[in-house]
Amino acid sequence: MPELPEVEVVRRGLLRWVAHRTVADAEVLHPRAVRRHLAGPDDFTHRLRGHRMGTPSRRGKYLWLPLEDTGQAVLAHLGMSGQLLVQPHSAPDEKHLRVRVRFTDGPAGDTELRFVDQRTFGGLSLHDTTPDGLPDVIAHIARDPLDPLFDEDAFHRALRRKRTTVKRALLDQSLISGVGNIYADEALWRARIHYERPTATLTRPRTLVLLGHVRDVMNAALAVGGTSFDSLYVNVNGESGYFDRSLDAYGREGLPCRRCGTPIRRRPWMNRSSYYCPRCQRAPRAVS
Ligand SMILES: [Zn+2]
Repeated sequence: MPELPEVEVVRRGLLRWVAHRTVADAEVLHPRAVRRHLAGPDDFTHRLRGHRMGTPSRRGKYLWLPLEDTGQAVLAHLGMSGQLLVQPHSAPDEKHLRVRVRFTDGPAGDTELRFVDQRTFGGLSLHDTTPDGLPDVIAHIARDPLDPLFDEDAFHRALRRKRTTVKRALLDQSLISGVGNIYADEALWRARIHYERPTATLTRPRTLVLLGHVRDVMNAALAVGGTSFDSLYVNVNGESGYFDRSLDAYGREGLPCRRCGTPIRRRPWMNRSSYYCPRCQRAPRAVS
C-alpha cells in the first residue's frame, strides 16, 4: 500500500507530465474503477472532456487533480495496487488498464495518463472542491507533517487532550495525515518512544522531536523514490527502494537494534504489527 512519500512522488510526476494539459477524451475500460463516481462512467468521461488539469495536490495519501473552471477535482484512490502511469500512446495497454485519459496539447503531447489497478480497490472519481480547493469528501483529513501549514502546536494540544496512545494518534487521519504503520514505527524508534505510550504524557519538546523524526523518515523515503518518475513513468505501486535498505525497526524482528544491539521485537497491534526496541523504547507503566 503506497504511503505518503510514494504518493508525493506520483504527484511530482503528474506535475511534470499532466498539469495544465487539456483533456481530449477519457475512456473507462472497467466501470469498477470509477464506482466512487456515483453518476457513472459516461458522466465521468463527459465531465473531463475539454477541461484543463490544474496543479496536482496531495493531502496525506490523498491525491487529486483540479479540473479548471469546473469547481471539481479528480480524486485518485490508489487502494492496494493502483498506479498512475504516463505512457506514450504507442505503448501497449497494460493488462489491468482501467482508465485512459488523452490530452490535446502540452509539453509531452504524445503521452497519455493511465490508471492501472490489478485488484481494482482503487479508482478515480470527480468531486466538488471546498473553498480551500480540497475535494469535499476528504475535507475532514488533517494536514500532513510535510505540509508547510501543518500546525505543530495545535497537533501537540490535540495529542494531550486525546486519551489515546502515541502510535494510534500518529495513524489518526483527523489529527495528522499520511503517517502509515511503517513510518510510525520508524519515527518512534528514532524518537525512542514506545508505541503504547499515552499521548497525555508527551511534553511539547517530545512531540516536536517526534514530528521531526516523522518528517526525516518521510523525506529520506522521498529522496530515494524521487528518482523513479524520471523516465516518463509515474509509478506509485510497490515500495520504494527505501524500504529495503533503510529501515531501522519495521520488519526487523529478532535483528539487533542499530543503536544498542538488543533484538527488535514485534507485537500484534490493531490487526497489524508494531516493531520496537525493548531497551531504547521502554514500555510505559501500566495505567490503571
Ligand atoms: Zn535499542
